[in-house]
Amino acid sequence: MPAELAPIDLDKAGQEMYELVADLYPICRSITGHGVRETLRRIQKRIPLLLREVPTGTRVFDWTVPKEWNIRDAYVKDWRGERVIDFQKSNLHVVSYSVPVRARLPLDELRGHLFTLPEQPDLVPYRTSYYREAWGFCLAHRRLLELADGQYEVCVDASLEPGHLTYGECHLPGETSEEVLISCHVCHPSLCNDNLSGIALSTLLAERLASRSCRYSYRFLFVPGTIGAITWLSQNEGAVERIRHGLVVTGVGDAGRITYKKSRRGDAEIDRAARHVLGRSGDDFEIREFSPYGYDERQFCSPGFDLPVGCLMRTPHGSYPQYHTSGDDLRFVHPSRLADSLAKCLQIFEVLEGNRTYVSQNPKCEPQLGRRGLYRAVGGQADPGQAEMAMLWVLNLSDGRHTLLDIAERSALPFSVVKRAADILGEHALLRESAGPSRALAERTGGRS
Ligand SMILES: [Zn+2]
Repeated sequence: MPAELAPIDLDKAGQEMYELVADLYPICRSITGHGVRETLRRIQKRIPLLLREVPTGTRVFDWTVPKEWNIRDAYVKDWRGERVIDFQKSNLHVVSYSVPVRARLPLDELRGHLFTLPEQPDLVPYRTSYYREAWGFCLAHRRLLELADGQYEVCVDASLEPGHLTYGECHLPGETSEEVLISCHVCHPSLCNDNLSGIALSTLLAERLASRSCRYSYRFLFVPGTIGAITWLSQNEGAVERIRHGLVVTGVGDAGRITYKKSRRGDAEIDRAARHVLGRSGDDFEIREFSPYGYDERQFCSPGFDLPVGCLMRTPHGSYPQYHTSGDDLRFVHPSRLADSLAKCLQIFEVLEGNRTYVSQNPKCEPQLGRRGLYRAVGGQADPGQAEMAMLWVLNLSDGRHTLLDIAERSALPFSVVKRAADILGEHALLRESAGPSRALAERTGGRS
């Protein structure tokens, strides 16, 4: 690709992502409503994002776009009129999608609507009730124990009415119409790692890619979890044929090691690119097999689509105590971890951008490299031996059936070194690009690779 993606001021990028997380943190988001719109509008200040509105009641495969939920205020007041649970202090205090209510209740009756975490008594849980009409409040268990018997005044000043589901879409055209899909979810209220870290990384990634010319076109989706991905797929069924690679980005700001979850295919190019990058990073990492539980890769990898979409995260959801609690706050995410996740993401895309297939123009015995100034003559390389080995590997395996990533894997050389060798050999007319093994297969079968 023309310009390298990966070199980036990581300290600056980490700080910018953290500041974006902090900016979006107070907004009360849900799967629909003004919080999602406000979030997308702030992202729009940085990248060319289009806001899409899909009406309530629209059928999307087996699902229906729900009513739109908006909340203004919510509280529980004690007999003195004091707010003992207050939405204004944290939007986590209200169960998302709570129906409007105004009532006076004794504590015993109120308890049925209160959610706490007895095992983590200082944290407020995050709860939703999207598809069952109900109302409820969340609070620290320690706070619940302090509530005296008596009458309480309950108010949820919210609306649940026909409206729209809102999502954001940013398309960055590349040299080809073949696409890389990047998806993050935008439906959680004041929680930082899940899902603001994914939003921040996707935004800076789009900003970075928008300033470069790329081989692939890139499509970024900022969608409410599950229903948003289903809605997009339902309304863009014809467009998915263009998707060559995809990544769901979520939970990328915590201190844990990086985790890549493979696509359903398990051996898609992005799965192999991620393994190559993480395996050579020198950092601890985990590669997980696909499972039909997690984030929106479930929808992209459903059998009717089976798209090559993996998932990049740090500590997997549900396996850290702060997950879906008030503990997932601004102290739980770190600029340096956000930056590290972004750098790895860019390195994976760098492999995808540069992964091509060539045919050696001198396949009968080795070409004479010395005559062309290519033997012991590659300047600026830290390890000339490695660069020469890369040229020999590229010349040997460039038979139209091996991609540069195949060659990097087989030679155990870094992709960037193999790519540089191919570029040099190409400049000396020793290589010609070919359609490649997967593309040739797709053309023969008339289907996608
Ligand atoms: Zn979540």
